[in-house]
Amino acid sequence: MRKYVLIILVAVFFTHLSSTFLGLNDPVFAASPESNGYWQLVETETVIPSDQIIGDKSDTRETKFNYTEGSVTVLYNRTTYDGIHNTYSNEVLTRTGSWSLPPKKVAPDEKVTLNLNARIDQFDRLSINYSGITMKAYFAELTAPFGRLDAGSGDFVDQSGLGLCEAIIADGVVKVASQTKEVTGTFGQGRAGMKKALFVVVRCDKVLGAKYIYEWKTDDVATSLPDTADSEQIAAKSIKGVIYFDQKHTKPIPHTIVHAIFYNKNGEIMGNVRSVSDSQGRYVLSLNQPLNDDHQLRLGIEFSYNPEGVNFLNQFDERDNKRLCYLVVTDGFITASSQEEILFDFCPLEGYSVSISEGWKEQLTAEEKKEYKERVNENIRLYEALINAFEIYNEALGVTLDYQLPVDVHAFRGGSITKINEAFDSFYQPANGDIYLAYLHASYQSPLFPYAVFHEFSHFAMQCMYGHRLPIMEGDINHGGYANTSTADSYMEGFAVLMGLAMQAYVNDDVVMIIPGRMNIEVNYKAWDESGKAEEFAVAGTLWDLIDNPSEDDDAVAIAFEELWSVLQEYRSDFTAVYEALMVKYPSQKIQIDQVFKNHGFFFSSAAGDGVYTIGEAFMDSNKDNIYTNGERFVDYSTRDLDGNPTMQYKEGDPIGSAAYASDPKRRSSQPFSGHYIRVANDLPYYNVQVKFYDHPALDYSTKTVNLQGMVYVEVPPAGYDCELTVWPEGQDEAPLVFSSIDFRRNYAAILQNGYFLDHAFDENGKAFEFDFNDTGENEKGAETILFVKVAVILAVIVGGIFLISRFRSHSS
Ligand SMILES: [Zn+2]
Repeated sequence: MRKYVLIILVAVFFTHLSSTFLGLNDPVFAASPESNGYWQLVETETVIPSDQIIGDKSDTRETKFNYTEGSVTVLYNRTTYDGIHNTYSNEVLTRTGSWSLPPKKVAPDEKVTLNLNARIDQFDRLSINYSGITMKAYFAELTAPFGRLDAGSGDFVDQSGLGLCEAIIADGVVKVASQTKEVTGTFGQGRAGMKKALFVVVRCDKVLGAKYIYEWKTDDVATSLPDTADSEQIAAKSIKGVIYFDQKHTKPIPHTIVHAIFYNKNGEIMGNVRSVSDSQGRYVLSLNQPLNDDHQLRLGIEFSYNPEGVNFLNQFDERDNKRLCYLVVTDGFITASSQEEILFDFCPLEGYSVSISEGWKEQLTAEEKKEYKERVNENIRLYEALINAFEIYNEALGVTLDYQLPVDVHAFRGGSITKINEAFDSFYQPANGDIYLAYLHASYQSPLFPYAVFHEFSHFAMQCMYGHRLPIMEGDINHGGYANTSTADSYMEGFAVLMGLAMQAYVNDDVVMIIPGRMNIEVNYKAWDESGKAEEFAVAGTLWDLIDNPSEDDDAVAIAFEELWSVLQEYRSDFTAVYEALMVKYPSQKIQIDQVFKNHGFFFSSAAGDGVYTIGEAFMDSNKDNIYTNGERFVDYSTRDLDGNPTMQYKEGDPIGSAAYASDPKRRSSQPFSGHYIRVANDLPYYNVQVKFYDHPALDYSTKTVNLQGMVYVEVPPAGYDCELTVWPEGQDEAPLVFSSIDFRRNYAAILQNGYFLDHAFDENGKAFEFDFNDTGENEKGAETILFVKVAVILAVIVGGIFLISRFRSHSS
């Protein structure tokens, strides 16, 4: 047992998370309402970003924010240089959101009316799909997130109950140029000293607007205020409380939708209202209709996680074929209260101990009720694990989780442990960023819980972290292991194995690096073991050996988890790339690191095999019959072990870092993408690459690449991203090369033919070079027309090259 390292890891996690899980039970809502007060406007805050310019003189994007009281105009102007046509072009987008000013004094029941107008004043598009402009107003706690667009309590709505006012751009054209909407809302009761705010939010890429802060006053009740309709019975106007995962009320449920449904005495639904809890699980439901003796109310939560006003994750219970978030309601009723403000803390589970009131006809039998309660329990436990995963990655590890939100988690597939079959597997779907969990992996009753949840979530986190892609090698198969042409898939899986176990150790506060029902990753699996299927576990074991405590292990290396993380968090195309990055970062620990990689079979085994397939050797089961079939790719192991089974042998001098073999000596993983090279006229070993995402600054990253015989791999992000890449030899940054991903994509066909993007990108001293167009390697013997096309392409590259040169010069100042 090696608690040492994980305790550090746990400590790091815990410092970041403790604020979320501690400090509960504050008596936040303990005050009685006061009936004859009013709301007084005391302060107006605006949220207006400062003007910004990004880019350089070849592609400048300027955004200005002009604010006057009740109106904000966002002027965006992009000037871009077209290196092929040698011209400048402009892209212009002007959007305005305006609103009428709210009254300074407001009675609790007064209908406050606001006029919203959202419009697109001008739009001249070049290439980018911009969004339109959306407005919304709501009255909420001071601490409510600024910029909430989904429906919630306190919303100002029009006659149809809709709150959004929007002008729309879609598919590159203006669909709705302007919309005006009259919305109304009420502020409700307050209590002495209470402050709340009317939020007027304008969203157009950025969030802007104004926050009108009101304070509840009781002195000097103005006669000009409308009469509050006094009835004999006091009607409840809001419900407040804290929601918890557990019945002991120790773990609040953060950022989750609370849902209240009203019933009349016949059990018919009369209305409902939703709100989102804050980070401490506190919720406030402002009732859009007063609750009195004629009503009954059920409260529940939806498994929909909404931190900072963003719908991040929804959990579905596939057993019910739910396409909507699972709604859990307490079984007890809140009936009429003599308080205007009802205080109600709850855990969705505990309603079942509350007796059902007379007016409600329960549909479920006792047996069904028991089963339903168990489902609620399973859902709560899974939801808690998913939020833990979110917080660990987002807060402790600093990963921006932003791929294809919300993450839809399709859970409890297959129904029950006894019904499990292969049709109900668990997996992460990279195409849509969603997670699918079989019952066996989703239920807390399974030994694989929560490891399997954290494993699948780690695939999602990796895709977010790696610029929305995963190290996947085309043609390789998932879990193909040693038989795959690269270690990309095994790295991706090994990462999820390691992180799944580390996260489980953290939440259980116990370091057990065992995959339930499978193996201890402390065991040194070799990449070729188990017909090559063990490779992903060899990856996980290697990573673990790097961070565990050397005094208790057979290896002598120990780097801190944070240090390993700094290597893992940047895109690595395969496990060999991880090795290379470790070599760059920890050259003094080469011997120890090599030993760990060697222990797990990550070396090139140069000895050839006997030329025929032997059972036990890794093979690619292309026809999926589970046995080796002639013609399938297989790995010819170099020798046999004492039991006569095929194995691989390390020979002195075999290079370490890639699990390669004689029949595929270049196997590493790293099959880099075709064409993503620049050619340089020097042998400076390392090049730094900085990638800036114009539209997604959170994705910006820097990396280091290797000069292999004059070819420097510079991976350009995929089409659809607009990036600026800056490349320079390590230690010599006075004359970097700067180019845009759009330049690269525009010349993509020629690049694929040449095998590289730019020739002579740097001279022998490491300075970006003047392009020599005679040296582009073009000497094809194709038909004249093809040659002609090629000349045109080369010309385009030349013009682009000159343009690039001029650009890096401007950078070098
Ligand atoms: Zn996996």
